[in-house]
Amino acid sequence: MKAQRKADGEETGDALFSLRPGLAAPLLLGAIFWSLEVHGDEISETLVPEVDIPPGLHARPRIDLPVASLPPRVHAFWDRQNIFLFAGVGVMRILDYTSTQNMLRRGREEILLPQDVVENHAGFAALEVAATATSIGISYLFHRTRHHKLERWLSIGHISVAGFGAARNYALESKHP
Ligand SMILES: [Zn+2]
Repeated sequence: MKAQRKADGEETGDALFSLRPGLAAPLLLGAIFWSLEVHGDEISETLVPEVDIPPGLHARPRIDLPVASLPPRVHAFWDRQNIFLFAGVGVMRILDYTSTQNMLRRGREEILLPQDVVENHAGFAALEVAATATSIGISYLFHRTRHHKLERWLSIGHISVAGFGAARNYALESKHP
């Protein structure tokens, strides 16, 4: 029995060996393609879960790019907000001028100020214009140095301080009548 099995094994082995020359090339090619397909599937299968994680990583560069592109988006210096704020500064300067003039007028009536006050009108008006121009100029410097918050807050602070001064002038005037 054992001898026969060995003999059969040898025979089959010889039969396969005899088939090899003709099938060697196709079998090798098939084995290569099969291994490539298997490896290909293995690679793709292993890459897919890795790719599933990278989408999060891919999203970061996509987020970083907009973030990187945001800083260049500097607002124009003469945008609506600045024009509004500068107009506010100018209005407050005019109010400061008029409120001060009202105070001086009242003072002139009471104390009879010298004629210098008339000459001071032009000088004081020029001072108000200079104050507005200086405020805008400093805002521009903040804008150029990328201090856009300070650029805004300078005008806001200027408006609030000038507004407070004008309100005080008018308040002082309203007390006397
Ligand atoms: Zn700015």
